[in-house]
Amino acid sequence: MKIPQEIQLISAKLEASGFEAYVVGGPVRDFLMDKIPKDWDMTTDAKPEDIQVIFPHSFYNNTFGTVTVINDETENDNLKTVEITTYRTETVYSDGRHPDQVAFTPSLEEDLKRRDFTINAMALREKAGKEEIVDVFEGRQDLKKKLVKAVGNPDDRFSEDALRMLRAVRFAVQLGFEIDKETLSSIQGNAERLEKISEERIRDEFQKIILSEDPARGIELLRESRLLSYIIPELEAGVGVAQNRHHIYTIYEHSIMSLKFCPSKKLEVRLAALFHDIAKPQTKAGEGQDSTFYNHDYVGAKVTEKILRRLKFPTKVVEKTSLLVKNHMFYYNTGEVSEAGVRRLIARVGKENLKDLMDLRIADRLGSGTPKGKPYKLRHLEYLIEKVSKDPISPKMLKINGKDIMKFLNIQPGPKVGAILKVLLAEIIEDPTKNNSEYLETRTKKLFEFSLEDIQKSEKIIDEKKEEEDLKNKSKFWIK
Ligand code: ATP
Ligand code: MG
Repeated sequence: MKIPQEIQLISAKLEASGFEAYVVGGPVRDFLMDKIPKDWDMTTDAKPEDIQVIFPHSFYNNTFGTVTVINDETENDNLKTVEITTYRTETVYSDGRHPDQVAFTPSLEEDLKRRDFTINAMALREKAGKEEIVDVFEGRQDLKKKLVKAVGNPDDRFSEDALRMLRAVRFAVQLGFEIDKETLSSIQGNAERLEKISEERIRDEFQKIILSEDPARGIELLRESRLLSYIIPELEAGVGVAQNRHHIYTIYEHSIMSLKFCPSKKLEVRLAALFHDIAKPQTKAGEGQDSTFYNHDYVGAKVTEKILRRLKFPTKVVEKTSLLVKNHMFYYNTGEVSEAGVRRLIARVGKENLKDLMDLRIADRLGSGTPKGKPYKLRHLEYLIEKVSKDPISPKMLKINGKDIMKFLNIQPGPKVGAILKVLLAEIIEDPTKNNSEYLETRTKKLFEFSLEDIQKSEKIIDEKKEEEDLKNKSKFWIK
C-alpha cells in the first residue's frame, strides 16, 4: 500500500511552511496490516491557527483541538476530510476521564506517549520517496504478535482515562488480537473505574464490539476483564444458571452462543440475540429439569429497554430491540397455527420486523446447540407470511377508513370511530373475505349501537380469544 496523493499533498504544504506532518494512530495500524484505512488522521507541530492559514478550506473544532481539512478535489470518500491534530501532551487527569490540561508540544514522541495502545501509537510519513515509521513503543512488534498492549504503565494509563480499558477489548475483537497479560490484569484491577465514564462513550465502544466480527468473544472478554459488571450486570445474573430439560447450556452460555451464531449483522438483532433471555434468571421457577421461565419474553423486553436506555442508545434502537425480545417466543408449527394466527403475528410485530424476528429465532436455535438454524417449519412460516401478506393486516388495508365510517353514521370525528376501526381490523384479520365495504358498513352500523366502552372491550375480547387459542397450541408443544 502507498500513502495516498491527497495525504502527501497535505504533508508537502505543511512542510513547505516549515512544519512536520505525519499520519498517526488508526491509519498507521491499518497501513501496516495492509488494510485500507477509513480515515487518514494526521498530526503536526503546526498550531491549529497555522493549519487553518495553510488550508483555508477547513474548520476548527475547539473541544477536540482538531482542524478538519476539506479535500474538494478527491474522489475518494475516505479522504474527503482529513483531521489534523497538533502534537500535544495530556498532563493530570484528576477525574479519570478528561485531562485537566491539554498542552501543545513540539515533540512527536510526547504526542505518541499519550496514546492508548502501542499499536495505536505509531506515526508514518514519506520522506524522499520512502516510508518512514516512527515507532517508539514497539507497536510494530505487537502488531506482529497480535497484542493489544498499553503504552507505558497500564495502571497509570487506565487511571488517566478508564475508557481505554473498554477500548482494549474493542480493538482485541475488531482485530482478532489478544490483550497483553499485564494490560489485562491491570484492567481486572481497575475495572470499577469505568463507573466514572459517561454512558455515551461506553455505548460507542460497546456498539463497536457488538458489530465486530466476533461479538461473542467480545462479551466473554468483557467478563474476563471484569468490565461487564460495570456495563451490563444483568447479563452476569445468568452465569452458571442452569435451564431445563430442553437446554444443555446455562442462561449466560446460551446468550453468548445466540449472539455468536446470529445470522444478522444488524445492531438490533444482535442485541436482541444477546438479551432475549435476559429475564430468565429472575423468572425462573422450580429447579432442575422441570424449571420454567414464564413471561421471560415480556419481562425481558422491559429489562432490555432499561439497559439500552441506560446506555443512551437511540430510541429507535431501544424500541426495535425490545420488540424483538418481547416476541422471540412466537409460536409456529405447521398445520397448527392458522393463517389468521400468522396475520396476527404480522400485525403484532410489523411486517418490516419479520425478517429480523426470524433471524433472532435462528440465532436462538443455533445458540441452543440445535444443528439446523432454519428447520422446515420456519421455512413454511415464511411461505405463509408471503401468502397472507396481501391480506389486510393494518388499518390501512381495510376497504373502508375513518372518513367512510363517519359518513355511514353521519357523525363527527370522535373516539368511537377509531374503536370501530380496531374491531373491524381484528375481525378481518380473522377472516379476510369480510373485507368488503358492504359487510363493513353493516358491521359499522351494528357496532355503533354499543357504548364506546363496549366497543373497546369487544376488540380486546377478540384479541384475547385468539391469544388464548395461540397459547393452547403453544402449551401443547411447550418447548422452552
Ligand atoms: P478506528 O479505526 O476504529 O477509528 P482508531 O485507532 O482510529 O480506530 P480512534 O478512536 O479513532 O481509533 O482514535 C484515534 C487515535 O487516537 C487512536 O489510534 C489513539 O492513538 C488515540 N486515542 C483515541 N482515544 C484515546 C484514548 N481514550 N486514550 C488515548 N489515546 C486515544
Ligand atoms: Mg479513527
